[in-house]
Amino acid sequence: VKGLKKHFPITSALGKVQGYVQAVNNVEFTLNKRETLGLVGESGCGKSTTGRTILRLIEPTSGQALYKGKDLFQLKQKDFQKMRSKLQMVFQDPHSSINPKQRIGRAIEEPMKIHKLYDSKERSERAMELLNKVGLRGDQYYRYPHEFSGGQRQRIGIARALALNPEILICDEPVSALDVSIQSQVINLMEELQEQFDLSYIFIAHDLSVVRHISDQIGVMYLGELVEKAPTDELFSHPLHPYTKALLSSIPVANPEFKREKIVLKGDIPSPLNPPAGCKFHTRCPYAIKRCKNEEPVFKEVAKNHSVACHLID
Ligand code: SF4
Ligand code: MG
Repeated sequence: VKGLKKHFPITSALGKVQGYVQAVNNVEFTLNKRETLGLVGESGCGKSTTGRTILRLIEPTSGQALYKGKDLFQLKQKDFQKMRSKLQMVFQDPHSSINPKQRIGRAIEEPMKIHKLYDSKERSERAMELLNKVGLRGDQYYRYPHEFSGGQRQRIGIARALALNPEILICDEPVSALDVSIQSQVINLMEELQEQFDLSYIFIAHDLSVVRHISDQIGVMYLGELVEKAPTDELFSHPLHPYTKALLSSIPVANPEFKREKIVLKGDIPSPLNPPAGCKFHTRCPYAIKRCKNEEPVFKEVAKNHSVACHLID
């Protein structure tokens, strides 16, 4: 993904454009096969919009999403739809994507039906097989969504996302609504499925501790921009951006020998309608210097695969 931007126009009652919400600004990353990129940040930071624009559920304002040598954003709708089976989404609340009046087996079959894959007997067999893959039973095919727990429903959502043999899953807070014990079960399942089906994940969460285990690299977003991106171990051991440090310092540390800088952020996240000039983080940054108020830091690589946008790094 290169230079991804999504600016939503704000229009007056008369339809005149009055300004733009810069939901996503210049986001860049590479997702490798069988790897997971964790995207974290507070709500409204643009992580979901990033995921949705890649799948063109929201059309991007500009940028590129290169996949198998093609720019997904340049493809005609018809060609994009063919490619679309390889890129699927897992939502936070599978309830909203699965019809409550539909048997779950039917819900899993639906994408195959839309893409005219297999005959109806094969589709049912495949749905049952997918139920097994996600740790449910094939005979649960005939049940309705309300008969399942939240964790089980998320498994059904994953089975449905796998129905078309995708290569990339964009997972938008797939475990945020679940209890902590269930979260790790679903994350473990996702790791097994990644191995088994050679999947690549973009895993969106608001919490660094959730993505730590599953991510190969992590991108931290603030007000529509990536402020830091690094391999997971490096991000946890050598965080550079003050915002990353603040997110990390709010995670309880198991080993008291290991002291971490404690940073408590002041104030709320500013409105993306009217973001601060200069470094967008300067209104909350405990290290802000004069320069931060009017000069925007450039997101640049400072070590292998480790990029950061902060004047202090200079
Ligand atoms: Fe803080 Fe300035 Fe760095 Fe922004 S550029 S994170 S305000 S020190
Ligand atoms: Mg979100």
